[in-house]
Amino acid sequence: MTSRTPTEARPGRMEPLACLPVFFALKGKRAVVAGGSAAAAWKAELLIAAGAAVEVYAADPGEEMCEIADEGGIAIHRRAIGPADFKGAALAVGAFDSDEASAFAALARRSGVPVNVIDKPAFCDFSFGSIVNRSPLVIGISTDGAAPVFAQAIRAKLEAMIPRGFARWAAAAKRWRPRVQALVPSFGARKRLWERFTERAISEPERIPDEIDFRKLTHDLPETGAGSVTLVGAGPGDPELLTLRALRALQSADVILIDDLVSPQVLDFARREAKKMMVGKTGHGPACRQSEINDLTIKLAKTGKRVVRLKGGDPLIFGRAGEEIAACRAANVPVEVVPGISAAQGAASRLLVSLTHRSQAHKLQYITGHDRDGKLPADMDWSSLADPAATTIVYMPKKTLGGLSRRAISEGLDPSTPAYVITNATRPNEEVIASTIAGIASDAAARAQSGPAIVIIGRVLELVVAEKKNTFWPEDRDCAAPRTRRGEEYVR
Ligand code: SAH
Repeated sequence: MTSRTPTEARPGRMEPLACLPVFFALKGKRAVVAGGSAAAAWKAELLIAAGAAVEVYAADPGEEMCEIADEGGIAIHRRAIGPADFKGAALAVGAFDSDEASAFAALARRSGVPVNVIDKPAFCDFSFGSIVNRSPLVIGISTDGAAPVFAQAIRAKLEAMIPRGFARWAAAAKRWRPRVQALVPSFGARKRLWERFTERAISEPERIPDEIDFRKLTHDLPETGAGSVTLVGAGPGDPELLTLRALRALQSADVILIDDLVSPQVLDFARREAKKMMVGKTGHGPACRQSEINDLTIKLAKTGKRVVRLKGGDPLIFGRAGEEIAACRAANVPVEVVPGISAAQGAASRLLVSLTHRSQAHKLQYITGHDRDGKLPADMDWSSLADPAATTIVYMPKKTLGGLSRRAISEGLDPSTPAYVITNATRPNEEVIASTIAGIASDAAARAQSGPAIVIIGRVLELVVAEKKNTFWPEDRDCAAPRTRRGEEYVR
């Protein structure tokens, strides 16, 4: 087997953006508004809310604008705006019809001031999104003018979802930030503190954060920005099968070391800034040496990084997790495990079949199809495999399926025992080949499949629900002619 070194995975390029969401700091800055209509008044109000010193230029301001002026929020100049009025402005907003709009936008641009002309996207350098206001937590929503009503509906959803109390938590964070910087010098410890803060805010959004919260947050923080290693189960492919804890680990990782079996969809849930490295060991292709992976993991953790080892399925099932845990412990690096859905559980869920059954299967066993030389393991317990009351899951079955099934039959397993190959379980390209232990090797060989596969053997498969939920396959199922399934459809 050729060897391969860990390589950095190039993150997928950012999908195109219709516009760039940025958040303008306007406190104390000059913003000019030209026009006195109700629409201009609303924009003036927004700018005031953001702390700008708003100057309005309108020969004949409307009622709404005058009201705002009466409240003392703005200064109104009762004349048209001129070139000198843009001086030192951070933003300019105008309410005009088309002819004047173009002249106004040109004036603003000449002074280097970003400009918005209300309802005239052709003359706008920026637009105002819909806002969910939990200031200092602020969410802006834009459809780039495509469907403002859609944006409004999304705003309404977010309004309902995001507790009002988050405003108080965000404000507390702002107040506490300088104290945290001074009190907690280590970057890693600060990061952990803000994670604790977030957990509190999410679990008790409506409580008013106080000094006791601050003390609890700063209490008992690790002194140094010590690194750590978390072995995370990525599940068989469908990212919805990630656990909440896996998601949290992926979101707070500095570095993610990824096995080839991990589906790319799972990586979409990882923190964008995390460095992602492929350290895969695909079946029979070039592989990174385990010792190399261990060394890299420990080296990264020792430099204070939070390392996530992302493994397909469950990390504790055929994942060489034992060696990685031992290496971390020997190096005194804190290590944690986040379990995942193993391929067997993923496949069983898709088949709607229970892997144990009160009358059909009293035993569930996970075996590997090959040893380190790619051969059937010499110490295989064949009597256990031939047990009619067992369900057996064969991981890494491809190379040895013929030998394994022949031997199982010769050891006494009924040749008509159902056996399935499930390739790419839970992924969009999942494929199932249903056969018997006698026919499975040739049935599988007759179809080219690429991707990881397991074999399930056992009488429980007689209960597989095909075609429709709660519909059993016909009693006279002809096992010699395998049924295959692509996507949702069973075909003969
Ligand atoms: N820790 C993993 C197993 C890793 S060993 C788990 O718990 O699932 C690698 C083997 O897992 C593959 O050769 C294949 O047999 C199986 N496997 C992993 N993902 C799979 C998937 N989506 N569908 C079918 N088999 C899969």
